[in-house]
Amino acid sequence: MGSEMALAPHDIMRLAAHNDRETLFGDDAMWLCLTCETCSARCPNDVDPARVIDALRELAAAEGAGHSPRNVRAFHKSFLEQIRMTGRLSEVGLIMQYKLRSGALFQDVAASPGMLTRGKLPIVPPHISGVGEVRAIMAACERERVARAAAGQTGPDTHDGEGAS
Ligand code: SF4
Repeated sequence: MGSEMALAPHDIMRLAAHNDRETLFGDDAMWLCLTCETCSARCPNDVDPARVIDALRELAAAEGAGHSPRNVRAFHKSFLEQIRMTGRLSEVGLIMQYKLRSGALFQDVAASPGMLTRGKLPIVPPHISGVGEVRAIMAACERERVARAAAGQTGPDTHDGEGAS
């Protein structure tokens, strides 16, 4: 993915260290990152750019809709909502929520019948036994986010509401 990104991982790290949000949020690089973690695994300084980019995406989403493409925000929120509901990813639930949030109702719809018949899209969402613990963790993150916001601190938007949609 590096060839598609105008900013390399070390550029992103330098901009983040200088709190240059305008350059960071004005570029598509962090939205193109696939979180493959190659940069983190190979970093000679033992830092973790992939995690930093994750955090930057959360910050961009928290700071305003204009900072992130609508489809990326839609995917991000839909993914977290699936994890909160079942403790793991339900592909069908993710697709339905993503389509409603992004407005891309008919995108890739022709692929659905084949995937359903081959069993690639289980209709019944899978649940893990510890889903209550997952929800408790997410609720604790939300409480911390609200407390930070009340204290005037910016931080990752971990809530699953529609505020940044
Ligand atoms: S995790 Fe690092 S190497 Fe992988 S796509 Fe993102 S920036 Fe590039």
